[in-house]
Amino acid sequence: MSEQQSQDKHQQRQQKVKEQVDAKVAAADIEKGILQVITGNGKGKSTSGFGTVARCVGHGMNAAVVQFIKGMWECGERNLLEKAGVPFAVMKTGFTWETQNRETDTLAAQETWAIAKEWLKDERIDLVLLDELTYMVSYDYLDLDEVISALENRPPMQSVIITGRGAHRRLKDLADTVSEVQNLKHAFEAGVKARKGFDF
Ligand code: ATP
Ligand code: MG
Repeated sequence: MSEQQSQDKHQQRQQKVKEQVDAKVAAADIEKGILQVITGNGKGKSTSGFGTVARCVGHGMNAAVVQFIKGMWECGERNLLEKAGVPFAVMKTGFTWETQNRETDTLAAQETWAIAKEWLKDERIDLVLLDELTYMVSYDYLDLDEVISALENRPPMQSVIITGRGAHRRLKDLADTVSEVQNLKHAFEAGVKARKGFDF
């Protein structure tokens, strides 16, 4: 095949791709807030959620962050985003994987959820990140029906991101966009310590 023929063939193929993409773009004309669930065992769920918060704030829009698990380390994103005016609600008691006290954890989860619920009614907030919410549902700290109802009744233009492993089927069913981050390998499994500025 001559150089010219190969170039023509490439152009024809790209033209076809462009027509298909243009048709899909034209067909996607619904304006509404998006509910995204980011789940799975791989690394990159919370960072993805925070990336979208940064994207939102970068456009001069309003985002709010609810963290249902306070990590062992300070949160780099929080340090940055609070300076940019993003409100954070962080669950007290520092609930971690080795949860000890069901009663105080449930109370703390519900206190944090109360703030989340207010934000899920506030149409001035364009994006709410519910980081690690999935565990609150798995542990039965929050009532799934209540969570679903708050999500369904939120302002129509408000977007919400839920992160955490093992997202409940009903959360995935309700979501518009669901991403599952698969773990192929993780440095931690090879003994590498969590790094400031990378893992937290
Ligand atoms: P990140 O906050 O880095 O986006 P994540 O939200 O996807 O991670 P979590 O399940 O919330 O992952 O885990 C929080 C912490 O555990 C992070 O410090 C992260 O680097 C680490 N981590 C994530 N995935 C794995 C994994 N597969 N094995 C070990 N540690 C992990
Ligand atoms: Mg996370």
